[in-house]
Amino acid sequence: MRVAIAGAGLAGLACAKYLTDAGHTPIVLERRDVLGGKVAAWKDEDGDWYETGLHIFFGAYPNMLQLFKELDIEDRLQWKEHTMIFNQPETPGTYSRFDFPDLPAPINGIVAILRNNDMLTWPEKIRFGLGLIPAIINGQKYVEEMDQYSFSEWLKKQNVPPRVEKEVFIAMSKALNFINPDEISSTVILTALNRFLQEKNGSKMAFLDGSPTERLCQPLVDYITERGGEVRLNSPIKEFLLNSDGSVRGFLIRGLNGAEDEVITADTYVSAMPVDPLKVMLPEPWRGMDFFKQLDGLEGVPVINLHLWFDRKLTDIDHLLFSRSPLLSVYADMSNTCKEYANPNRSMLELVLAPAKDWINKSDDEIVAATMAELEKLFPQHFGSEDSAKLLKYHVIKTPRSVYKATPGRQQYRPSQVTPIANFYLTGDYTMQRYLASMEGAVLSGKLTAQAIARSQEKGVSRQESEVQLAPTP
Ligand SMILES: Cc1cc2nc3c(=O)[nH]c(=O)nc-3n(C[C@H](O)[C@H](O)[C@H](O)COP(=O)(O)OP(=O)(O)OC[C@H]3O[C@@H](n4cnc5c(N)ncnc54)[C@H](O)[C@@H]3O)c2cc1C
Repeated sequence: MRVAIAGAGLAGLACAKYLTDAGHTPIVLERRDVLGGKVAAWKDEDGDWYETGLHIFFGAYPNMLQLFKELDIEDRLQWKEHTMIFNQPETPGTYSRFDFPDLPAPINGIVAILRNNDMLTWPEKIRFGLGLIPAIINGQKYVEEMDQYSFSEWLKKQNVPPRVEKEVFIAMSKALNFINPDEISSTVILTALNRFLQEKNGSKMAFLDGSPTERLCQPLVDYITERGGEVRLNSPIKEFLLNSDGSVRGFLIRGLNGAEDEVITADTYVSAMPVDPLKVMLPEPWRGMDFFKQLDGLEGVPVINLHLWFDRKLTDIDHLLFSRSPLLSVYADMSNTCKEYANPNRSMLELVLAPAKDWINKSDDEIVAATMAELEKLFPQHFGSEDSAKLLKYHVIKTPRSVYKATPGRQQYRPSQVTPIANFYLTGDYTMQRYLASMEGAVLSGKLTAQAIARSQEKGVSRQESEVQLAPTP
């Protein structure tokens, strides 16, 4: 089958990859001139990379890790020490760590929490542990039911002291969905905690050794094209053209730079676009259908990613850092963490600014000035004197609608990959899969969509003819 896929983010590319494995021919059509969607990256005039987001790969990402294996690029993941490092706002320039020993789960996680005495007192740890018991006993079913509560509400319900939220979960909530615990659904945090506590290496983190566009998306494109598929940049879908029965007749591609519009036809069509542009593009006859109406419950959350180049080294830490700053979320000195960005003499900090709703419309200069004021607290030894570290240059990337905002009650609005339209499927991190809005979620959704398409074809052809070979879904 020829399958037209709208969008070359991780979900669209993974879907195309698994379709080629199943013997189909995908054609991926990407609106922009760059691969990767929310993992897209660009090179500036000095040859330095800057990215849509600071991206961390976790041990708890089975589908992503399997994809690296299948592409034979596992050596591109730079695994870091098994620890989580938090800034200590009361004592600027210092850190507190949760070190995971080399023991089976959940013992390694429990030891990591019990050994950390900077952030939580023993009574706080015990009250939090007791609060978690229903999630541990009842597993994912309970975690899904808790989607009705924000994490702040859940902590109160479980009698967990407010300081636990302030010390640990503001940072975690901002890292997971770019919003605070009073906004985030409990399902998001409890899902992450479950994975981190149940899998020995679940919370172990890796950085890619270069830009995601070159080091992850390009190998996917090579894999797809070597097997007869196609990936086209600068091909924005303008409209889904319909047959009289409401099924898709073609994708209308907007002609750029004066070129004519073009119709791409296929046997099956997939939207790998984010939910916000998809909602705008839904054809009139589909809009009244309950399946598509549910998408109104989902909306992308704003986030800002900053890159700051300095004239000296600010830190030697080779890991992700939780800033615990009201302005910022996580950050890393990419000159230490990423092989291709390495520099022994100068730091390049990549920082996520979240929540970003009050900042997304401000100028880059205002955003950088506010960030620099925060860095004076994070690195007091390098600022505030005559010999302060100098900012050499910066890039600010704003994403006004990034991953869907995971407020309470969102799970019911996440659509399946199969739609009521026989030849039209959805893929993307917002579609229903158990890894929420993440790179792992995007890859898993792509695989699930490819499996659904392969299954539908299996129904149409005789068993002997169909030799569908899809990798199993962990
Ligand atoms: C700042 C930031 C930090 C993040 N950090 C992490 C992290 O540390 N770990 C993690 O796991 N995840 C992280 N994420 C989330 C992760 O990037 C996303 O979940 C994932 O990349 C989404 O992939 P996707 O394919 O579903 O969507 P997208 O990447 O959004 O892909 C959709 C594609 O569709 C294209 N498109 C849109 N409209 C059209 C059209 N009309 N025609 C053709 N194409 C179109 C877009 O250009 C885009 O390429 C982060 C995200 C951000 C923004």
